[in-house]
Amino acid sequence: MTQISNHMPTAELQALDAAHHMHPFTHNADLGAKGARIITRADGVWLTDSDGNRILDGMAGLWCVNLGYGRQELVDAATRQMQELPFYNTFFQTSHTPAIALAARLAELAPGDLNHVFFAGSGSEANDTNLRMVRTYWAEKGQPEKQVVISRWNAYHGSSVGSGSLGGMKGMHSQGGLPIPGIHHIDQPDWWSEGGDMTPEDFGLERARQLETAIKELGADKVAAFIAEPVQGAGGVIVPPATYWPEIQRICREHDILLIADEVICGFGRTGNWFGSQTMEITPDIMTIAKGLSSGYLPIGGSIVSDRIAEVIGNAEFNHGYTYSGHPVAAAVALENLRILDEEGIVTRVREETAPYLAEKFRSLTDHPLVGEAKIVGMMGSIALTPDKASRAAFEADGGTAGYICRERCFANNLVMRHVGDRMIISPPLVISREEIDTLIERAWQSLDETH
Ligand code: PLP
Repeated sequence: MTQISNHMPTAELQALDAAHHMHPFTHNADLGAKGARIITRADGVWLTDSDGNRILDGMAGLWCVNLGYGRQELVDAATRQMQELPFYNTFFQTSHTPAIALAARLAELAPGDLNHVFFAGSGSEANDTNLRMVRTYWAEKGQPEKQVVISRWNAYHGSSVGSGSLGGMKGMHSQGGLPIPGIHHIDQPDWWSEGGDMTPEDFGLERARQLETAIKELGADKVAAFIAEPVQGAGGVIVPPATYWPEIQRICREHDILLIADEVICGFGRTGNWFGSQTMEITPDIMTIAKGLSSGYLPIGGSIVSDRIAEVIGNAEFNHGYTYSGHPVAAAVALENLRILDEEGIVTRVREETAPYLAEKFRSLTDHPLVGEAKIVGMMGSIALTPDKASRAAFEADGGTAGYICRERCFANNLVMRHVGDRMIISPPLVISREEIDTLIERAWQSLDETH
């Protein structure tokens, strides 16, 4: 058997990667020809690749390494838990202290009466739980017809059949039989691309009222829930106009529709509060969590559920669960992650210091000729690239979108930024310093200069 290690030459690792490893959301043949960038270590906000380059991770891995890399406390928490109890399930009338402690801590942190946690292994699994949970809730309440879940085009809620259907990514829907029945999509509140001549405020109301129109067309007695990310992440960091969320909340209340806030990206400090729902001032019935819950050190997700839903679901057997629901090692790591976020005051520091500094620097990118708008909430932001700022035109460049080219230039300049079409995205670890923010902005500017 080939002994594979970080000491092998990059080209050999790339060849083996191409031969055997199928990457998610990737044209694998193209990647194989080019060769993947092999990441070997990480520390703070810095990645190291197999050629020894130091790369600033402007995406916190995949929006998840909120605490930054290399926290020994999380390693120790995992080690201790592995020695004590590496696995036991939470099915069939058993429990264990890591799951109990994490559920209790999440109930303390979550707003309002969100006091109950159903664990999963990922955000996708948690959204599958939500889909079944809201439908079961209404069925148990004697309204079995209330089954449709309304979501948004260009939303991302995961990659399983259920969560991929809830999401509104058309590229995903074109493969493998998505969406499943009983999901209805409305438009996203993306003023820059779709707002035309409307003011952002009017546009926000218009997009929110699509929910009311859909509910009236489908019948409120048929609609179980509306699901949305407080700030759309993978769709391009679409920050909704201020009028959007209050109107959505009103509509859900008036028509007795449950509100699911998908906090997989927005949760755990990303927007400057523990949850994006607090930043957007909404009161969801369920929150989906994952990613920043453990800072990505181990996979874990879940649904934080209100008293009224937990009570109804608890009155019957809910035939649903995952072997790794509440996995003890992942739960212990998540608990330690939450302890550090809290005790080091990281969420408060984001809100009061880091995010305002980042916002000022990030917005300065609009001085670049290619950049139209810059939108940022807390530690997640996007810039829209355009050939014409006044008309907010889309950019089409030879050989791919300007966003793709810019992303490639960033990578060459040792900065990870992501692109979604012609939007460039950042979502760095919450612990990024001012100096590192300056470096991020300098490298982004240089990459924009090289985008042609
Ligand atoms: N929900 C949102 C908002 C996400 O951004 C993601 C992943 O990016 C998911 C759900 C799916 O989470 P996972 O990849 O852990 O299944």
